[in-house]
Amino acid sequence: MINGYQEIVRVAIIGILVVLIALIIASAKFFPSQYETSVEKTVALTLRSYNERGLFRNSLVDDEERKFPITRETFDIGHKTLGEVKKEVAAMTASGRPLEELLTFREFVAEIANAFVKGTPFENRVTVNALPKEGYLNIYFLDADPSKLSSRFEQNCLYTGHLNTIICDTRFFDSLFQRVDQINYLYDLVILQFGKSGLPHQPMFHDYKLRFAQRYLRTTLITWVIGHEIAHALLHKHRVVKEGPLHFNLKYDVVEKEADDYAARKLASDPVLGSRFKPMLGEFIQHELRRIYFSEEYKKPITDPTKMIDLPDKPIEASYSRFDVPLTLRAIQMVLAMYDVNPQINDRASYGIVDADVALVHSLALRSLYDEVANKIAIKESGVTLSSYYYLSLGLGITAILLCFVVSRLRRR
Ligand SMILES: [Zn+2]
Repeated sequence: MINGYQEIVRVAIIGILVVLIALIIASAKFFPSQYETSVEKTVALTLRSYNERGLFRNSLVDDEERKFPITRETFDIGHKTLGEVKKEVAAMTASGRPLEELLTFREFVAEIANAFVKGTPFENRVTVNALPKEGYLNIYFLDADPSKLSSRFEQNCLYTGHLNTIICDTRFFDSLFQRVDQINYLYDLVILQFGKSGLPHQPMFHDYKLRFAQRYLRTTLITWVIGHEIAHALLHKHRVVKEGPLHFNLKYDVVEKEADDYAARKLASDPVLGSRFKPMLGEFIQHELRRIYFSEEYKKPITDPTKMIDLPDKPIEASYSRFDVPLTLRAIQMVLAMYDVNPQINDRASYGIVDADVALVHSLALRSLYDEVANKIAIKESGVTLSSYYYLSLGLGITAILLCFVVSRLRRR
């Protein structure tokens, strides 16, 4: 009798649990707005606690110095004689207009983000490392994500979909910047240095300024990542709310290509940002191609860059999987998309400040180079795919259940 009673209670409890779970799932499905509101509340609370715990990072370099240059003026360099160039540089310096400004990391991100959201519902509605505001695009740079806003936060940047938040792991930028720090040669980027009177410093075309190039490259990579995530916020919100966050550096598919494309097109139609971004991304491609080639061919990093000024004749093999699309391939696609929007993009140089002098930042690479390297890359499919991970975890799960079952049977005996 007692056994029968216990059985009824047990069945009732299981039944109630099943109904409860079904109700929770149904409420999320049928009342998505309420569900979304509760998720947004959790995200807001989590971010508030991260702020209190000091997890927001306002600087990616050692200090809060103004190290992030943003260009203010551009220069039409197409088909100009040196005399004309000198005159124009002198006139621009005499005008007193700011040619370039150095911003803090946070100011830089806010400015770039605002450029990307111009003409969208987020125009002038961007926060960086501040408590989330409704109707705003809220961007965060975090040292850690202990409450798991995303399970794939590590070494990534992602758009969560809730409260329009973009969260970035600062370690992701640290690792990108490490690649930049290794650069000790410039392949097609030129930084021409002029005195305030417009007189060039000699020798002109070898006046490479690595330190400045590295600065510009850092801002270029930040611009790419932020533009990409903002594109997700503008184009893919519904998808993200349903299917989960979209990351910068994970599965690469149509949606990811759309985001890169959006960023490229927006930059190509912004003469000030685009004239700096294109030559810098082009230089990044040059370095990445050689890095891939050297690590595949010689299994070692590139040591003397001057021995590798020309790219090899044979194809460069890049491993590719749904999870690992080399940034080089993506960067080439972006540069080509920029040329599609604005074929004259390489005729614009940007002004910069090098020490106390004026600089023109420009690239010698034309579109044909990117078409050529796009054809030069041989994609080597690597075996890691979503489905193999999926089947592996499914298999492990089934094995674990079977083992539990067998152990419990053995114990009963
Ligand atoms: Zn993405």
